[in-house]
Amino acid sequence: MAAAIDQPLSELEAFGRQVAGCTRCRLAEGRTQVVFGVGDPQADLMFVGEAPGFHEDKQGYPFVGQAGKLLDKLLAGIGLERGDVYIANTVKCRPPGNRDPQPDEKQACEPYLFRQIELIRPKVIATLGNHATKQLSGKETGITRVHGQPQRLNVGALAVLLYPLYHPAAALYTPAMFKVLEEDFARLPELLGAPVPEPAPVVPLLAPPPAPEPTVQLGLF
Ligand code: URA
Ligand code: SF4
Repeated sequence: MAAAIDQPLSELEAFGRQVAGCTRCRLAEGRTQVVFGVGDPQADLMFVGEAPGFHEDKQGYPFVGQAGKLLDKLLAGIGLERGDVYIANTVKCRPPGNRDPQPDEKQACEPYLFRQIELIRPKVIATLGNHATKQLSGKETGITRVHGQPQRLNVGALAVLLYPLYHPAAALYTPAMFKVLEEDFARLPELLGAPVPEPAPVVPLLAPPPAPEPTVQLGLF
């Protein structure tokens, strides 16, 4: 007899319940509910989008509207489905009228995303679009330049591969962008199998001073 009710909550689920009542930023005022995230709590692949939209806010799950359908299609193209990955957003409440999340809202919500990453421990985090990419890379370089280029990311003690992708909502109406997104997606299986690269060595700007000549030991008698 399945007794799901009696099973202890996973740490991620328990954390989701805590966040459900969050009022740390103004987005709490207009939301129907917090859209925490969905999928395998131990996924190797995690997606981070921007913010819940109308349907996400109503249903409580990320990427359930048109962009989500495209994401499902892209996943199917590499032999995966929603339940194999974890999906979250940079902010967990819908901005009014689907406006962009503001810097202070992203900042207020960021600790939740980092905690999710720490609990899930994914190997690859695919950021969807500019917001998630800039936030997690900590760099201002736009998605047009960095899409498809894996980079190392440290989250606390965890090293993951950050893999920026175009946002599926942008690809919905631009066939050329969809094609690029599909091509970038096709590399995901390979990236999931690869080890996270070591951090780039810090190259000194100036050549280090030459090592001192070893002192010649004369006979010790
Ligand atoms: N777009 C996003 O960035 N996130 C969602 O959850 C839905 C659409
Ligand atoms: Fe809290 Fe994030 Fe929602 Fe703001 S967007 S109220 S920080 S859960």
